[in-house]
Amino acid sequence: MTAVEPTVVPVSTAPPVRTRALVIGTGFSGLGMGIELQRRGVDFLILEKADDIGGTWRDNSYPGCACDIPAHMYSFSFEPKADWTYMWSFQPEILDYLKGVTDKYGLRRYIRFGAHVDRAHWDEAQQRWHVFTKDGREFVAQFLISGAGALHIPAVPDFDGLEDFTGAAFHSAQWDHGVDITGKKVAVIGTGASAIQIVPEIVGRVAELQLYQRTPPWVMPRPNNAIPARLRQLLATVPGARALLRDGIYWAHEGVGFAMTQRPALLKIGELLGKWNIRRHVRDRELRRKLTPNYRAGCKRILNSDTYYRGVADPKTTLVTEKISRITPRGIVTVDGVEREADVIVFATGFHVTDSYTYVDIKGPGGEDLVDRWNREGVQAHRGIAVADMPNLFFLLGPNTGLGHNSVVFMIESQIRYVGQAIAAVDKVGAQALSPTRAAQDAFNTDLHDRLERTVWSTGGCSSWYLDEHGKNRTLWSGMTWQYWLATRSLRRSEYRFTR
Ligand SMILES: Cc1cc2nc3c(=O)[nH]c(=O)nc-3n(C[C@H](O)[C@H](O)[C@H](O)COP(=O)(O)OP(=O)(O)OC[C@H]3O[C@@H](n4cnc5c(N)ncnc54)[C@H](O)[C@@H]3O)c2cc1C
Repeated sequence: MTAVEPTVVPVSTAPPVRTRALVIGTGFSGLGMGIELQRRGVDFLILEKADDIGGTWRDNSYPGCACDIPAHMYSFSFEPKADWTYMWSFQPEILDYLKGVTDKYGLRRYIRFGAHVDRAHWDEAQQRWHVFTKDGREFVAQFLISGAGALHIPAVPDFDGLEDFTGAAFHSAQWDHGVDITGKKVAVIGTGASAIQIVPEIVGRVAELQLYQRTPPWVMPRPNNAIPARLRQLLATVPGARALLRDGIYWAHEGVGFAMTQRPALLKIGELLGKWNIRRHVRDRELRRKLTPNYRAGCKRILNSDTYYRGVADPKTTLVTEKISRITPRGIVTVDGVEREADVIVFATGFHVTDSYTYVDIKGPGGEDLVDRWNREGVQAHRGIAVADMPNLFFLLGPNTGLGHNSVVFMIESQIRYVGQAIAAVDKVGAQALSPTRAAQDAFNTDLHDRLERTVWSTGGCSSWYLDEHGKNRTLWSGMTWQYWLATRSLRRSEYRFTR
């Protein structure tokens, strides 16, 4: 885990901008937080490094990009959309949805685009955060809330020779739409959530597709046909129909969550489905073998697709399971010495997850460096949101609040409500700041990590991006999402220290 070193900071001559709450990011988290602050009448600003809203759904525009939790659940409960065109909607529709929410709540006027937050420090005397952007602007706020996201720093493996590659090379989250892949030899590196969406989408267009696999994912069958107009109309007009559908989706996913967190053996049922999904699309026995995972389903994120295996079985596709040893100006060499020529390399290699929490250089009271502390103690927060001895600092989708089985928007909604309550509690007791006590934070995390030991992520026999360099899960919530809802439903003042 590394903190991104602040670059040489230009000094702005403009006076600092003051507000009560400063939010970082305009994905589901930052926008949701803005709506909550607006509802509570708290003065706020949102800082966004990019030039538009959307986070994940602005950045990821690769072919086939879609959510993997049904959109009726992967959306704000307070902003339902009855007419999603697909059950697992595609990126343009999700981005449109977020833009619609932004406009409906008039959030744009609170957002400062091109404001890349670089560092923040707590001023003990003023009881305020001083927050600086890369271009030297300063903001002063009582509350600092990070909605910077966990999946926004593309992880590109450091292959020898990459800089000499003469074709186009880009990460799936930075898809270069200026590159025409039609009739080209395309190498996709990685077989995770993005790759399984990209492969079937591009295989028809390219001349040749090399798919480099380190570990095969479990991919469950999932038909994703357009939702018929009649059904969409029914969802829009029949009272309760949409809510019923959302509830059904929610509890079906909680069922999977139960297996992942309490009874990993039940996931064998999913493995049967996954194996059937391979068998029905792939005839070649050797290819089937290579595609069949040897760890418990759910240990890595369970993926869903009706088209992925068909794409892999396409005669144009070569599944390469040998490790990549280097990249040459013309292509990719694997450890067996074979060089395969490629015109385009797509890195579907995921994101730096734990680094994303420490992306902003944060110094608390007495100049204590949060990254240093987390490097020493591991990334942790109280209820995944607030941090001991870091006053008025909150993380949305912070440590151990990601999910392997349901919509994170549900988690975000629990968190924005909790942060709203924290701000209200500060006002109510006439304080300036609050931070969780060490005892409360430690008790929460001890219990969380005890529970995580029994989950499929620790027992399933795989290594995954959920685990940090010590094999500790710093990413996922340990139980069902309703348990998190219960744990954050109302802020317990006894768990906090208030500064007056
Ligand atoms: C392809 C893909 C598909 C996914 N599908 C699902 C799904 O189906 N279900 C699910 O539950 N989850 C899914 N996820 C996870 C997804 O990241 C979350 O669901 C959700 O979008 C996270 O929202 P967020 O607002 O917390 O973060 P983000 O969407 O990442 O937004 C963070 C924002 O903060 C900005 N930012 C970051 N750092 C700074 C800074 N220092 N200064 C200023 N601005 C900054 C970024 O530019 C960005 O706009 C998916 C992720 C990916 C990549």
